[in-house]
Amino acid sequence: MSHLPRLDKIVTHEDYTLEGPYLNLIGECFRRRYLGGLPPLNQQHGIVQAFVNAGRWVAMCPNAPKCHGTVRVAEFMAVFICPACGSPENKGRWYVVEFPPDRAEIETILLARPTDPMTRSAKYRNWQPGESTAFLRLENEIFAHRRLAATARHSHVRTEASRE
Ligand SMILES: [Zn+2]
Repeated sequence: MSHLPRLDKIVTHEDYTLEGPYLNLIGECFRRRYLGGLPPLNQQHGIVQAFVNAGRWVAMCPNAPKCHGTVRVAEFMAVFICPACGSPENKGRWYVVEFPPDRAEIETILLARPTDPMTRSAKYRNWQPGESTAFLRLENEIFAHRRLAATARHSHVRTEASRE
């Protein structure tokens, strides 16, 4: 379940203004789980790919299959350490978060997809590394056709009802 602070962009940690600085948030998770203090920022090793889940840029813990920790990534502090397990497979060091080179185009295509302003969710805005922008555009077309078809069905029902 995701309640987005904004629906007009694919959000990152910075858009959740009430949560405070990214490092404080991860540090607080570490404290609650007795994982100790955060490693210094210069202890970085390895890369995790950012992906889009329900309108948010996130990264998933590579410590599979033990851990499925997922974190909203920070735009201006693009490092990841798992707040659930502390990333022991990376010797407790930070990963660098990598955004795709065609990020802007991916975001533009995803932002064309409908959201639910009532629940502030964007469940149709998803992207995985390896999915091409052509594929995303095709999905958008399929969405548009489905919505058109649904609208046509509704107006048909109204027409039938008004005859009675
Ligand atoms: Zn983890």
